[in-house]
Amino acid sequence: METLVTNSIQKASSFIKKGEIAAFPTETVYGLGANAYDEKAVEKIFKAKGRPRDNPLIVHIANKKDIEVLAKEISAAAKKIIKKFFPGPVTVILKKNEIIPDLVTRGLNTIAVRMPSSKIASQFINACGVPIAAPSANLSGSPSPTSFIHVLEDFKGKIPCVLAGPATKYGLESTVVDCTGRIPKILRPGVLTLEELRKIDKRIKVQKKSALIKSPGQKYRHYSPKAIVKFQISDYRLKINTAYIGIHKPNKNVLSGLSRYKICRDLNDYAKNLFSFFRECDAKKIKTIYCQSVPEKGIGLAIMNRLKKATRY
Ligand code: AMP
Ligand code: MG
Repeated sequence: METLVTNSIQKASSFIKKGEIAAFPTETVYGLGANAYDEKAVEKIFKAKGRPRDNPLIVHIANKKDIEVLAKEISAAAKKIIKKFFPGPVTVILKKNEIIPDLVTRGLNTIAVRMPSSKIASQFINACGVPIAAPSANLSGSPSPTSFIHVLEDFKGKIPCVLAGPATKYGLESTVVDCTGRIPKILRPGVLTLEELRKIDKRIKVQKKSALIKSPGQKYRHYSPKAIVKFQISDYRLKINTAYIGIHKPNKNVLSGLSRYKICRDLNDYAKNLFSFFRECDAKKIKTIYCQSVPEKGIGLAIMNRLKKATRY
């Protein structure tokens, strides 16, 4: 299959309209989209990604009024989050309406809804004229794509179209918040921080272990480069093919033993560069990537969530 790489929103949306899939940029990571109402098109996403069958998709919208089409019994707490943070890097889990095929939500009676703030994403969804079901546009398990080049690394010749935009603003995925109960709970930490969410509702917490049941995607190994990911640099005489990413510069002995490294300006810069650094290391056949662990506060919570998943083998 030939993969068309285009910066024409009209052209990319024409693929969605004819029941095909297309990758597109958002402010978090690139997504691989299909018409959420078209089961056959949605099936193509699972096939292309090799995505586990029990892992539901986020449905992306461009207008707030679409929420009522997709979901019902929207709680006051959910409304508050939507009012304040839509459009933005947050996904809300709501009770689903029948209109959405079970294939999208994998049989759950809930639906994940997000409204991207990225202009190009919003224009693309509007041009498609339907809600867009989309996971991240990477092969299942590998690091999420933050540029269209990453999408092509995984899908060149395997999907018909990539809408090529700029590198993504944040580089990490959205925060997934379950709003089906009385008190919203974070199922997956992401770009929108717990601290920001708590400004509108102090009761919001991060769901601990049972999130595995609530959000199927959380139980899989994820976000992983081919290299082994470790937290501690234990051996000062590092061998070749090792890399490091973090905010602090390691000492001279360590630095001189590394094949490559990336010192990030701050936590946001760390979040933004993490996945692209993983991919860069894979391209250079790096064997081990040491990652600085950071306090689980602010965006640090999402960074550590991704790193812990990437270190798990
Ligand atoms: P991604 O695969 O990067 O698109 O991430 C989507 C995340 O949202 C995964 O962790 C999914 O398991 C989660 N998700 C999607 N739909 C639902 C839902 N209805 N209930 C709970 N989690 C969901
Ligand atoms: Mg993903």
